[in-house]
Amino acid sequence: MLDNLTTRLARVVKTLRGEARLTEANTQEMLREVRLALLEADVALPVVREFVARVREKALGEEVAGSLTPGQALVGVVHKELTALMGGDLGPNASELSLAQQPPAVILMAGLQGSGKTTTTGKLARWLAEGGHTQGGRKTGRKKVLVVSADVYRPAAIEQLKTVAAQAGVDFLPSTADQKPEDIARGALDHARRYHYDVLIVDTAGRLGIDEQLMNEIRALHAILDPIETLFVVDAMLGQDAVNVAKAFNDALPLTGVVLTKLDGDARGGAALSVRHITGKPLKFVGVSEKLAGLEPFHPERMAQRVLGMGDILSLVEEAQKAIDVGEAQKLAAKLKSGDKFDLNDFRAQIAQMKNMGDMGSILEKLPAQFSQAAAQVDSKQAGKQIRRMEGILNSMTNLERSKPELLKASRKRRIAAGAGVQVQEVNRMLAQFEQMQGMMKQMKKGGLAKMMRAMGG
Ligand code: GDP
Repeated sequence: MLDNLTTRLARVVKTLRGEARLTEANTQEMLREVRLALLEADVALPVVREFVARVREKALGEEVAGSLTPGQALVGVVHKELTALMGGDLGPNASELSLAQQPPAVILMAGLQGSGKTTTTGKLARWLAEGGHTQGGRKTGRKKVLVVSADVYRPAAIEQLKTVAAQAGVDFLPSTADQKPEDIARGALDHARRYHYDVLIVDTAGRLGIDEQLMNEIRALHAILDPIETLFVVDAMLGQDAVNVAKAFNDALPLTGVVLTKLDGDARGGAALSVRHITGKPLKFVGVSEKLAGLEPFHPERMAQRVLGMGDILSLVEEAQKAIDVGEAQKLAAKLKSGDKFDLNDFRAQIAQMKNMGDMGSILEKLPAQFSQAAAQVDSKQAGKQIRRMEGILNSMTNLERSKPELLKASRKRRIAAGAGVQVQEVNRMLAQFEQMQGMMKQMKKGGLAKMMRAMGG
């Protein structure tokens, strides 16, 4: 979903590498890419405009000093705003279904024909029956669920719900095409009360387009059932049209949430980004396959991450930020500027910072999917052990040896190796790494260490 946004953002992040801060100019360029990506994804224009304006405002105010790269800071802003756009600003549990204290909790399903209403009714029933529902983040247990169809225009629709209910393992209340939808609703409510159902889900008729009769009918059903949840089911593949339909339903009915179906077939994903903004109602579920298991509770934060294809990169950035001691890095940079040479004491300080980055394993886990393959090849325990051994070697040296590495001849190396409990070859290997680093430092003198660290982080 929204692959273009990911690609475009990645490109901007690369061009920003090495720049010290977010400026009017480089932010402008990034915003153009974001704007284009959103339009390509078929996000509604007013949503694009407002989103870009918000990102711009936040990005320019963003303090980049602590971040590794301005590019990452920008991605961070985009991520935050995407999350908010999709309902993250409503609170962590805004996507949860509220089920009445006094059962049965009635859920009314609304939407156009073909949107996936009946399938979603079955999916939702199964999910509730299997104990998927949470309240305040906590599971509330399995529910006793009854489903009924008030679609008297298409007998096939009633049959379809019957089949789906059987697959879902929930009870189905038969209805017939010669009944009035209002009577079906009243009968179902009575039945659900009498037999102590926790939840009653009412599937309704859809039309191919929005018409007044359909709206009147569902309004009447709403009045009879007084549902705690009125879910609007919409096909993600409609793109911008999904938003128009959502708006019409939202004007006619007090919707409590939206279910976006067929997200698996929608490469652009614009509806997911627009629908909350246009209706003001939270997305509660997404349909991700035709199968009954293909329903997922919607999490704005996770969806934003999926859109950006970046795993948990933000918390990674935060962790790395914490780990790198900016003061220490600046001291080193100042030292380089003053012409002092980079010695083994500095090398030791660098290694200590690497260790501060924490358990490499936890950092690798948070890398975006693209890197996970490479990450899997790095043995993080081994890397940690390696760092500790290098520190052991450095600690076996005298201060003089660390500040004048040229003193390290064979006999001193033997003593150091013995002190650290390693072979002499390992001391040599570490010295080679040090020389490599020293060479790099010479090159970096002009740019400064902070800049190099940013480049490594990007
Ligand atoms: P209704 O007319 O609104 O009741 O729509 P249906 O429930 O009959 O669904 C219409 C079609 O969309 C069916 O072929 C479903 O299998 C399919 N469908 C529904 N939800 C999803 C989904 O999340 N993903 C995919 N790929 N297909 C879906």
